[in-house]
Amino acid sequence: MSIQCPNCKSKHIQSRDFGRKGAGMMGAAAGGACGISHALRGARFGFMVGSHFGPIGSSIGTIGGAIFAGLSGAAAGGVAGSKLGEKLDKRLFNNYQCQQCSHTFSKHKG
Ligand SMILES: [Zn+2]
Repeated sequence: MSIQCPNCKSKHIQSRDFGRKGAGMMGAAAGGACGISHALRGARFGFMVGSHFGPIGSSIGTIGGAIFAGLSGAAAGGVAGSKLGEKLDKRLFNNYQCQQCSHTFSKHKG
């Protein structure tokens, strides 16, 4: 691991895992049953969870909640949610925070 702060070049970097935690929770809560009604409920829950992360988060939460509630059981939902969240962390969120200057950044560029 050689993640470095782009701001102050410190190597004291903490991973925040917002997406993984949020999506994992969403997946676990949304799973447990299948069917359209559950997918709708998952979408609503996903929106609730996602809205903590702003407008982008609520869209992702809604879509992700619906998909994972529709397709997955509780355990599978949690695992799949975590995996989705991991991808979101890498691509969308500023998943790393510098312990030195509190700068947040994402490893994935573009
Ligand atoms: Zn820094």
